[in-house]
Amino acid sequence: AELELSKTGWLLDITKLTLGENIGEGEFGAVYEGDYMGQRVAVKTIKCDVTAQAFLQETTVMTKLQHKNLVRLLGVILHKGLHIVTELMTKGNLVNFLRTRGRTVVNSAQLIRFSLDVCEGMEYLESKKFIHRDLAARNVLVSDDSVAKVSDFGLTKVDSKASDKAKLPIKWTAPEALRKEKFSTKSDVWSYGILLWEIFSYGRQPYPKMSLKEVKDKVEAGYRMEAPEDCPPGVYPLMRLCWEQEPRRRPGFSKLREKLEREMSKLSSE
Ligand code: ADP
Repeated sequence: AELELSKTGWLLDITKLTLGENIGEGEFGAVYEGDYMGQRVAVKTIKCDVTAQAFLQETTVMTKLQHKNLVRLLGVILHKGLHIVTELMTKGNLVNFLRTRGRTVVNSAQLIRFSLDVCEGMEYLESKKFIHRDLAARNVLVSDDSVAKVSDFGLTKVDSKASDKAKLPIKWTAPEALRKEKFSTKSDVWSYGILLWEIFSYGRQPYPKMSLKEVKDKVEAGYRMEAPEDCPPGVYPLMRLCWEQEPRRRPGFSKLREKLEREMSKLSSE
């Protein structure tokens, strides 16, 4: 993997990197703000060598995926483990963005805009036959100009949260994926429905006050979350479509984008 990356120019020069403030904590190490040849970047550090090797494999996948709604990978640096260098998303993750600003600052049109941003990023991944497996608002980041982008794609296969059944993000994972580890674009669509609920509830934890065991059992039996307060009337039915028990009955991301675009134009013609 190292050789392949160096040939294709994804191996970056550590002497051109200046590390700045710590801006987050990842599962495998800290995330820093930084500067790479005049560009503001985020640097994710992975200290453990074994994990670093697995991530390195996956970053070769990431280099092939480029879209305006995916957090862009600039490259990697091999130094004391692995440094993954991506574009800096100054407004942080979508959960914190919505929680700290709330209804008084962020209106429904902006929420639909974020939903469309994520949907377009996922439509692209779908077209590349790529399954994310850990789509959630915490893995969506917001740029300086308030564009939402999907992050952590390509890393989920080595991420223990996704590969170790015991650590699956229960509240975001489709029933068939929980039951028989059957992941597909349609299980990503389920997660996208949960993400829509997070967006329109301004960053609330899904299934409030329910335990993981309760969520697993009740969802399997047909229980679904109610519409978030003040959710635009056309949006909740989209969540319900994403949460069809039968994966085949869930829409794909292209269909979802069309429906969201209709909701957006309804708002602007009001
Ligand atoms: P992990 O997936 O290992 O938990 P994340 O990639 O989610 O780690 O990073 C943890 C936190 O660091 C994020 O929630 C976010 O606040 C911050 N972060 C990660 N990548 C970036 C980035 N490119 N720009 C700005 N902040 C980032």
